[in-house]
Parts: sequence; structure tokens; C-alpha cells
Amino acid sequence: MSVERKNWTVEQILEVYNTPLLELVNRGQEVHRANNNPSEVQVSSLISIKTGGCAEDCGYCPQSVKYNTGVEAHKLMTVDEVLGAADIAKSNGASRLCMGAAWREVRDNSDFERVLEMVKGVNAKDMEVCCTLGMLTEEQAQKLADAGLYAYNHNIDTSEDNYKKIITTRKYDDRLDTIKNVQKAKISVCSGGIIGMGESVEDRVKMLHTLSSLDEIPDSVPINALVPVAGTPMENQPLLPIWDMVRMIATTRIVMPKAVVRLSAGRTQMSLEGQALCFLAGANSIFAGDKLLTTPNPEFNEDMEMFRIFGLTPRKAFNGKGKLEHVSADHHH
Ligand code: SF4
Repeated sequence: MSVERKNWTVEQILEVYNTPLLELVNRGQEVHRANNNPSEVQVSSLISIKTGGCAEDCGYCPQSVKYNTGVEAHKLMTVDEVLGAADIAKSNGASRLCMGAAWREVRDNSDFERVLEMVKGVNAKDMEVCCTLGMLTEEQAQKLADAGLYAYNHNIDTSEDNYKKIITTRKYDDRLDTIKNVQKAKISVCSGGIIGMGESVEDRVKMLHTLSSLDEIPDSVPINALVPVAGTPMENQPLLPIWDMVRMIATTRIVMPKAVVRLSAGRTQMSLEGQALCFLAGANSIFAGDKLLTTPNPEFNEDMEMFRIFGLTPRKAFNGKGKLEHVSADHHH
């Protein structure tokens, strides 16, 4: 899939974002229909393979050692535990399994070797395997690719200007470097951000501008609503108005027409009607399963009921195209 691109400017994206709301939803839907199957939603399942004890200080995150949030640290899960979780996720309709580890960066040690085994094992189950493990070198990205990794998640979170206010232990450029390393290894990139952290509309728009200006537009773009967690610097942030989420989803869809736009964290705070508007605006992916790393998420059954009401169906792994075809079709431009 060669993603056709328009070189959006910040001003143009801002204009889209500020379109009257229902007009914007309609435009998002039109772009969505012209580029994707509007009744298909990609369902991912996210498991925390290594929880808590992270040395970074991301202001929204309950897993940082800097904040007292009551999250219990767990060391890396075993390969068998992960493969068992993959079976459950698959039987519940998930086509992608994302494995998250609260690491600052990947180190070349036995833990990484174990993650590579997990990747091989999940890939053998014909699920799209995704990891989010922190920063990666080019060599590490290549090892993950060789093990069969389909996608790598590495969010840019917010605009470059706002990033310093949220995280001090690494730089925006570190993020972009890892994304480049992932792209060099021909792994599908999943990168998005979080809104509701106290950022301005310009910050949101600039984040979308950065994503749409990458060498390759990310295949998947998660849009998260902050889930304020007690003990983090953001514990007192007011809940994001649903209208901001709808605006952000529609704008993301319009700016990156073929990307999978994921309605990610924060769904437990949204009504079914609010989520319906997000799907209308162009969202076509969710995380399913009762937990997103450490914060709550709707149960699988609730989501399947939502799909039934809305008339949506879960998308097959590899977009129904089969693994090999995907690799040749999607990764060699
Ligand atoms: S978001 Fe990731 S890198 Fe940041 S503190 Fe949490 S686990 Fe660590």
C-alpha cells in the first residue's frame, strides 16, 4: 500500500480541526469511506509483559518509578504466559496482539531474547504481533523484524514544544530516531499520542503534522484520551470532553486517510453514543480486553455488543491479505 500523501501544513490541519463539528464528522466519514471499509474495525489486544518500575518520568504514566501510583511492578512474563494470553485474545476476536514492556529502551540481554521468542510464538498463531518496548537501535529493530514482528508502537505523545513539559528523561528526537530505526527494518509503525494532558489545540495539530510528515506515514495512529491516574502529575486533569476526541479522530482521518486510526485509552469514560461518533468520524480500530497496561478498558463482551449494535465487524489479521503478501505489498514502495 503506497500511502498517497498531501503535504499538510500546520495551518491547514488547524483549519480542518476547527471546522464546525458536524461538518468535520461528515468530512471524516467521507474520507474514511473513500479509503477504507467503513464497517470493519481492527481489534487489538494489549498485554503488559513487564509492568512498572520504569526509569522514565512521562507525566501521564502510572508505571514510572518517580510517581507513587500503587502499580505493582512485575518482571518480564514467561513465553508460555504470553502465548496463553495470545490464545485467549485470538478466541475473543483480536487479530493483533500488542506486548508492552515498561522499559526506557531495549537492552541486548536475556530479556530481549525472551521477547524475540514471544514474537516468534505469537506470529506462528497468525496474529499480527506488535511490541512497545521503548527506544530501539537499528540492530534491535532488525532482530525483531527477523523474529516476525509485524508492528512497533512508539508514540510521539504530543507536539515537540509540549513534549518537554510532559517528559524530561528523553527528547522528542529520541522518539523520532526510534521510529526511523523501525521503518528501516520494514516494520509497520504505530505512532500517535494522548490528548487531554493540558495541551493547546496547536499542540494537537502539530503532533498530527509531525506524524503526517514522517518519511512514511504511520500505518496506525492511536489517539488516546488521558486517563488521569492518582499519584501522577496529571491526576487532577479534567476529563477530556468527548467533542475534542471526535474532532481529533476526524482530523487524524482526514490528514492520514489510509492509516488505521485507533480509538485507544479513555474509552471507559466515553458513552456508546460518544464512541459511535468517533467511528463515524473515521476511527477504525480499538483495543479490546479489560485492561490497557494498567488502566481499565471495556470488557471484550461489551465491545462485541457495541459492534453488534453499530453493525461493525472485526477486521481479519493482515487485513485479510495473508502475511507474505502484506510484507511485499506494504513494505516495498
Ligand atoms: S510511558 Fe512508557 S517510558 Fe514513559 S514512564 Fe510509562 S512505561 Fe516508562
